[in-house]
Amino acid sequence: MKKIQMVDLKGQYEPIKEQVNRSIQEVIDTTAFINGPEVHGFQKELEEYLNVKHVIPCANGTDALQIAMMGLGLKPGDEVITADFTFAATVEVIALLQLTPVLVDVNPYGFNIDVEAIKRAITPKTKAIVPVHLFGQVADMDAIMEIADEHNLFVIEDNAQGIGANYTRRDGSKVKTGTIGHVGSTSFFPSKNLGCYGDGGAIFTNEDDLAHTLRGIVNHGMYERYHHDVVGVNSRLDSIQAAVLRAKLPHLDTYNAKRRESARKYTERLKDHDKITTPLICDVCDCHVFHQYTLRLKDCDRDGLVKHLNSKDIPCGVYYPIPLHRQKAYTDSRYNEADFSVTNQLAKEVISLPMHTELDDEQIAYICDSILEYLNA
Ligand SMILES: *Cc1c(COP(=O)(O)O)cnc(C)c1O
Repeated sequence: MKKIQMVDLKGQYEPIKEQVNRSIQEVIDTTAFINGPEVHGFQKELEEYLNVKHVIPCANGTDALQIAMMGLGLKPGDEVITADFTFAATVEVIALLQLTPVLVDVNPYGFNIDVEAIKRAITPKTKAIVPVHLFGQVADMDAIMEIADEHNLFVIEDNAQGIGANYTRRDGSKVKTGTIGHVGSTSFFPSKNLGCYGDGGAIFTNEDDLAHTLRGIVNHGMYERYHHDVVGVNSRLDSIQAAVLRAKLPHLDTYNAKRRESARKYTERLKDHDKITTPLICDVCDCHVFHQYTLRLKDCDRDGLVKHLNSKDIPCGVYYPIPLHRQKAYTDSRYNEADFSVTNQLAKEVISLPMHTELDDEQIAYICDSILEYLNA
């Protein structure tokens, strides 16, 4: 059996090696390292893939979130509601811009921001909601957009873990995640579903004026060379990363289908155990792209299971072991523990299994057998 990895980037590279190498070599040959044709080409191809009017490439997914918030003109003291159960980048940029993060609980079935908790957290100072499509599972976007419309709030989708996912709206139409809110962001960190070979990110929007503003912000606030109209940042996707992404984008749907297939196989083997809750999989839509395959464990020594799996050469992850409202940097005396019952529970129960595009049946069977062996011991 091949050695099991949490993410197998080498295995994914092998079949596209020639094209990736050729594209990188071309960038070197033309020395168009910054803002070269590869970046522009990737931007256009991603706009087409997502069916969104504007893609603004930038340096990483954290910048993408920050720039999105800057572009919306959010001001210090504005409250921004986001999920307590996510990677810290989401809340970090809110705090960094001196906006007020308002963390709320998530729902237990999809691990995503809880719609009722959003409603309870809205105050006259609320300006935006940041849903995160955590682990590749789409948040309840129709409901979130409705709340936003009603209260005149911006919606910024953190799509770092959800790229390529389809969301089926109530009217039956399908849209790509990241293009539903006023603005969306993603990360091309190597282990993400569409990863480059370094850092990268992008912002999406259908609004022309906002896109124009964002294009200036990523480039030092310049709309005309050496005229700085707003305070901006330097956040660029470099041409070598764009070349890698152009080679990989045509495979994204296949990559996500492979992840979904592995998820189904895991679920098939694990769903009947009374100590395990497998992730929600919708049979009729492809709304989950399984950035992570995350189980909930009941009456189980999770750390013991992690050790057991590691001892059998099976890597696994705990995303995320500490809710954000309990992180030193983000505690707030206004928070009440009782409002975070789901996140507090999830932080104790979750475990993420190896998930990538190169998993094979033998590996999945071995991982499942090893988990069941521990739980039944
Ligand atoms: C990875 C990630 C980010 C940040 O992306 P970087 O490219 O690493 O800056 C933001 N939000 C979520 C949910 C992520 O998973």
